[in-house]
Amino acid sequence: MKSAEKYLCEIREMAYNSSKGWMVTVESVFEEDYDDIQFRNTLASINYKDILQDFESGKLDHFIKENSGDKRLDLLISKLAYSLMEDIKDCTQNKYSDKWNNTYLSFIPYNDCTAFCSNVDDFLEPLDGYIICINQGIYYCLNLISKAFVVETVSEDLKQYKNNAPELYNDAIGLFLEPKKEAIKNLFFEPEKLQPQNYGHLSAFQSSMAMMIMQFIGLHEFGHIVNDDLTEVTHYKSHLGAITGHEATEGDYDHKKTWALEYSADEFAIKALSSRAACNEAAWANFLSIYYFFKWLDDVETKIKKPISRFHPPPMDRANNLLRIMKQTSEMPQDAERVINNISMWSDTWLVQNKDCYE
Ligand SMILES: [Zn+2]
Repeated sequence: MKSAEKYLCEIREMAYNSSKGWMVTVESVFEEDYDDIQFRNTLASINYKDILQDFESGKLDHFIKENSGDKRLDLLISKLAYSLMEDIKDCTQNKYSDKWNNTYLSFIPYNDCTAFCSNVDDFLEPLDGYIICINQGIYYCLNLISKAFVVETVSEDLKQYKNNAPELYNDAIGLFLEPKKEAIKNLFFEPEKLQPQNYGHLSAFQSSMAMMIMQFIGLHEFGHIVNDDLTEVTHYKSHLGAITGHEATEGDYDHKKTWALEYSADEFAIKALSSRAACNEAAWANFLSIYYFFKWLDDVETKIKKPISRFHPPPMDRANNLLRIMKQTSEMPQDAERVINNISMWSDTWLVQNKDCYE
């Protein structure tokens, strides 16, 4: 039987060598003026204990000095995948160890799909485990929309940043549809333009929000694995054909069936995330980040005037389904209603409609 770990390396390699993926972002994020401090901050922002320890003990100093460009991105992305897998284990409280012991997760620079999971290769040969692939581009999109959220909610003394929110939000939409260098330029806060305490505070807020949404995406995929959905969701990865050279067919699909599986994987993910929250308010704060993410996906669809994926229910239906689950399991704080209204209001004013055509 084919090794899942090896297969994941193979498609990753192929994606890196494909001109269609997100490789453009490697050059743009890590060009000359992308300095060490910024790289260190990005790495630190992944916010996982082991990484911070390596970091603070100076273990990474040599690496940072000796390497640049794609090697650095590789490290960043592999640490991110590792940390996400740890989060998934943690959120599922060591249940399903038989599943996650055989699950391999990677951020891959392919082009058009957010994430998928599988237990077969692209010729439908069975693997000895499970793979979860997340589009590398989503890491950038999530950081951009999180930054937009953060700057919109900053206090009065930082209000000059508020003007950037619509641009960041629309950059993220553009980036989702097509890898573009310009959109990446404003990905992170610039330490030299802010007071140290503000820089730390805003960056931490931004990265924890982006990571929260990323955890939801990882847990959603893991939910498909736990729920045994793989026979049905295998054809999602037909887009990989462009990378592997194997023309996969989309096959027949029953949207009622796949939509039910999607709702159920969403439910698995939000419940797993909530189980780790320290209190009710924290669980709702996590949920609001996810709600905001779906609102953004809804705006991507508005812009392209068609669904992102036929296999998935409309983004706002998914958001409202999650809201229903949250209300069933815990009391909704008053503040949450206000944030939901704000998110709709922002998106109405931020979305630049009909400005570009992405058909
Ligand atoms: Zn799914």
